Amino acid sequence: MVLADLGKRINTAVNSALSNTQDDYATTVDVMLKTIVTALLESDVNIKLVSKLRTNLRTKLLDAKTGSKSTSNAQTKKLIQKTVFDELCDLVDCKAEQSFQPKKKKTNIIMFVGLQGSGKTTSCTKLAVYYSRRGFKVGLVCADTFRAGAFDQLKQNAIKAHIPFYGSYVETDPVKVAAEGIARFKKEKFEVIIVDTSGRHHQEQALFQEMIEISAVVKPNQTIMVLDASIGQAAEQQSKAFKDSADFGAILLTKMDGHAKGGGAISAVAATNTPIIFIGTGEHIHDLEKFSPKSFISKLLG
Ligand code: GDP
Repeated sequence: MVLADLGKRINTAVNSALSNTQDDYATTVDVMLKTIVTALLESDVNIKLVSKLRTNLRTKLLDAKTGSKSTSNAQTKKLIQKTVFDELCDLVDCKAEQSFQPKKKKTNIIMFVGLQGSGKTTSCTKLAVYYSRRGFKVGLVCADTFRAGAFDQLKQNAIKAHIPFYGSYVETDPVKVAAEGIARFKKEKFEVIIVDTSGRHHQEQALFQEMIEISAVVKPNQTIMVLDASIGQAAEQQSKAFKDSADFGAILLTKMDGHAKGGGAISAVAATNTPIIFIGTGEHIHDLEKFSPKSFISKLLG
């Protein structure tokens, strides 16, 4: 279940709570909070986060009402909705660090990590196109030597997008390929070098060890973790594991054009204190948008 109907459910809860004239404001707030908490938990948002949100919301809503006993139901409704909206925005508006900006005439290395199928290779190309259109000289490196076909996929994407690329059909050591690709592009004064990595399932320990090794050689200026919007409860554990091994500084949330509203991503942001910087909104190379907490939450609220 996703958060799709949360907005409607909040609205219904507020309306029914307000129509019961017997209830005082605190009871109205509690009834409404129960609905929000249920919806968030059903949407795989972490229980500790939900509990914190509930406490914050309750305090804010009760404080806001103090001293203004004469407000109408419509005003109360507006107040509740705005407070909920702002509080949810705060959950994803991670101010921990400013997002990285590549510098012209410098080598800027960006490394991508994430599980297979999350949309990593597609997103690497999208970001390459994004920076290329902004005047950077961009190259793509395929450091996934694990999955057969990984290099071909990156190559096809890169050719379609007119982005120079580097990879190997014979080398089995991803660290070596990454180092060679970077050396090649550096020599040719590329400004943004994007390194795609493996994302195999089922051998996660080996995968995380590989991320540590590639990271040590690549020395990225920015590491981006790619997260599928439909990830759900696994978001917290998965993002923590990638944070420990690859210490990513940003999240790219893919498949936001689908049914999933990205509830799990809230847990990933909170667990790693790392901002979402871009969202993927389709399979096309231009389907990449800058992340905006407000529109993300608006969509979440339906
Ligand atoms: P990787 O294994 O992590 O490298 O994932 P891929 O880049 O191969 O993507 C897996 C699938 O997800 C492919 O079919 C992509 O076209 C698709 N995909 C990636 N990003 C998006 C997105 O933002 N929206 C949609 N609808 N599909 C996406």
